[in-house]
Amino acid sequence: MTYKAINPFDGKLIREFPNATDLEVERALENAHEFYMDAKHQPILEREKNLKKIADELRVNTDYYAKILTLNMGKLFEESQQEVIKTAEFAEYYAQNGDSLLKNQPYEIDNNYAYVEYDSIGAIMAVEPWNFPFMQVMRVFAPNYIIGNPTILKHASIVPEAAQAFEEALIKADLPIGAFKNLFISYDQVNRIIADPRVQGVALTGSERAGMTLAAEAGRNLKKSTMELGGTDVLIVLDDADLKLAIKNAISARLGNAGQACTSAKRFIVNQKVYNDFIEGISAEFAKRRIGDPLDLNTTLAPLSSKSAQEKLKKQVDDAISGGSKVIWGDNNKISGPGASFNPLIISGMTPDNPMYDQELFGPVAQVLSVKDDIEAIKIANYSNYGLGGAIYSTDVERAQSLARHIETGMVAINQVMTSHAEIPFGGVKKSGYGRELSDLGIKEFANAKTILYK
Ligand code: NAP
Repeated sequence: MTYKAINPFDGKLIREFPNATDLEVERALENAHEFYMDAKHQPILEREKNLKKIADELRVNTDYYAKILTLNMGKLFEESQQEVIKTAEFAEYYAQNGDSLLKNQPYEIDNNYAYVEYDSIGAIMAVEPWNFPFMQVMRVFAPNYIIGNPTILKHASIVPEAAQAFEEALIKADLPIGAFKNLFISYDQVNRIIADPRVQGVALTGSERAGMTLAAEAGRNLKKSTMELGGTDVLIVLDDADLKLAIKNAISARLGNAGQACTSAKRFIVNQKVYNDFIEGISAEFAKRRIGDPLDLNTTLAPLSSKSAQEKLKKQVDDAISGGSKVIWGDNNKISGPGASFNPLIISGMTPDNPMYDQELFGPVAQVLSVKDDIEAIKIANYSNYGLGGAIYSTDVERAQSLARHIETGMVAINQVMTSHAEIPFGGVKKSGYGRELSDLGIKEFANAKTILYK
C-alpha cells in the first residue's frame, strides 16, 4: 500500500489505505461522465449554492480539518487553520462570482455578430501535492465545478487522510455524485485515466519532474493541461527598502509552512548597502523559532512533511556546502530521531558553478546574496530555469514596478508576501510550468470557449 499517513513529527504510522481497484476507477469515470452530462442542464446557481455550503462546512469545522492536515504533513496547527479558511474563501469566491466570470463575450464583425460562451469539456484529472493539501485541491475543483467539469483527484500519497477529509466536506455539503472523486491510485492508473475519452483535462501541481511526465502524458493524448510547478523565487531588497517589512516577510517566506511553499522566496538578493542589517535581522528571527510538535501551540517551526523530505534537503545542503556555499547562521548537523524536523539555516555563496544552484531547497533554508545594484539583482533573479513568482522591497513603488517588468516570472509582489488570492491569476513561466489558476483566467483554463455566429 503506497498511501500512508505518517505523523511527520514522530514518524508514527497513523493509517494506510489500499489502492483503488480498476473497477473503482471505472465507476468514478462513469459517475464523472454522468455528472458532466447532467450539469449541462443545471443552472450555475445550483452549483454556486453548493460551493457556498462547502465553504460553510469548512468554516464551521475548521479545527477538525486543520488537525488532519497537521497530522498528515506536519504544518503548524495555526497554519492548518489558516489553510482551511483560505480553502473556504476560494470556494466562496467562485460561489459569488461563478456566473459573472463565465458570462458570454460578445464580438462584432462586418454585418455579423458573434459571441463566445464558456462550456464544460469533461472530467479533469487533478494530481496534487501535499504542501497545501486542501487549498491546492480547491483551486482546481471549485472553478471546474462551476463550469460543470467533474474532478478526479490523485492526491500525494503522504496525505491520504487529508484527501479523504476534503471529499468528506464535499459530501456533507450534498455535492452531486460524480462531481468529485478522490482515488488512491498508482501512476499507471493516472495515465490510463488521462487516456480515457471521458477525461479532457489534466491539472498538476507538483515538481518539475512530475510536470515533465504528466505534461507528456497529456500531450500524447491531446488533452489540455495546466502545470503549476516549483521554483527558486527571489526576494529582492533594494537599498531604499523598509527593512523591517522585508525581514518580516522574508522570515514568513522561509519559515512559514516550514519553508515548503512553491511561491515562498528561496533566494534573498540584497543590496550591499543594507545587506548586513538584513542578515542580522533575519538571523535574530530565525533564532527565536522553536522546533517541536506542530499541534503544540508553543511550537513556531514545523517539521518537514516526511523523513524523505528531510533526508533530501539535508543532502542538498551538504552538496551545496561541498560546492562552495557557507552556512552563515544555524547548525547543519543535528538530524536524529524518527521525526522530520529540520534546523533552519542561512547559507551564502551559492554561485552558478555550485551543483545546487537553481535547485529548489524545499524547507527552512535561506540563500542570501549581496549585490551592488538593481541591474545585478535582476540578472541574478533571471539566471534560473524557473519563473514562478518573486518579490521586490523598495519604498519607491515606481522603481519596484519598473524592475518587476524585467523579472521573468509569472507573478511579482511588491512590498508584500508572494501568495495566492482568489481574485488574481496564479501561475508561472519557464520550468515553473504553464497555465493559470484562480480568477477569471483560472476558471477558463478548462472551458470550451465556443464561438457562436449569428445575423
Ligand atoms: P511531486 O513529487 O511532483 O508530487 C506532486 C503530485 O504528483 C503527487 O500527488 C505525486 O504523487 C504526483 N506524481 C508525481 N509523479 C507522478 C507521475 N509520474 N504520475 C502521476 N502522478 C505523479 O511534488 P511534491 O514533492 O509532492 O510537491 C512539492 C512540489 O510542488 C514543489 O516543487 C513545489 O514547488 C511544487 N508546488 C507548486 C505549486 C504551484 O502552484 N506552482 C504549488 C505547490 C507546490 P505521489 O505522492 O504518489 O508521488
